[in-house]
Amino acid sequence: MINAILLGPPAAGKGSVAKLLSKHYHLPHISTGDMFREAIEAKTPVGILAASYIDKGNLVPDDVTIALVEERLSQPDCQHGFMFDGFPRTIVQADALEQLLKKIKRPINTVLEFECNRPELIRRITGRRICSECGTPYHIDTMKPKKEGVCDHDGAPLLTRKDDNVEAFTVRLKAYDELTAPLIGYYQAKGLITQFDGVKATVDLFEDVKAFLDTL
Ligand code: ADP
Repeated sequence: MINAILLGPPAAGKGSVAKLLSKHYHLPHISTGDMFREAIEAKTPVGILAASYIDKGNLVPDDVTIALVEERLSQPDCQHGFMFDGFPRTIVQADALEQLLKKIKRPINTVLEFECNRPELIRRITGRRICSECGTPYHIDTMKPKKEGVCDHDGAPLLTRKDDNVEAFTVRLKAYDELTAPLIGYYQAKGLITQFDGVKATVDLFEDVKAFLDTL
């Protein structure tokens, strides 16, 4: 049984590893960042509101984010486990999640914390490119696609996220330190945290996490 949260600063490798884990364990990868980007693309009211926060690197308000997750959790694919990536990001969100999961009797049973130093995070962010269709991340120097500018999986063009610039990233890191990092202590107190070295290459990190999850 895997009811997991992936926790760590932006660009620590959560999204890349979550994609691999989701395939391996056939579990929904619930990324609030991806959900917001889809809403922005579809120009829904939530998307239009979220964009005004995301583009500057700020967090979307808790009530909007929690409502999005509540809707997602009501879908049938969440009945057999899930992996949260980028949620919760505040203590308020973590408390709300606990209440939502009580209703479906699936409490969080593990929190995977990815650690990564600041210079490496900045290097990753400034060279990051994302597939416009499937969201697969690449890096212009260290995770190049086979053919420049297009995704290996679906051939769609690669884009730079609007918030992947040094200014917005500085704001994102500050939000992480002030609002999200306290969740480490919050879940440590519940005995749920396991740390992983987010500096490692995605495939190696995936192997580490898989070896751990197989013991659950
Ligand atoms: P990263 O981890 O690379 O910063 P994400 O894709 O997880 O990126 O999130 C991108 C942006 O979406 C965040 O900077 C924030 O503005 C918004 N966002 C995503 N998840 C949340 C959340 N749980 N609470 C508030 N805002 C969120």
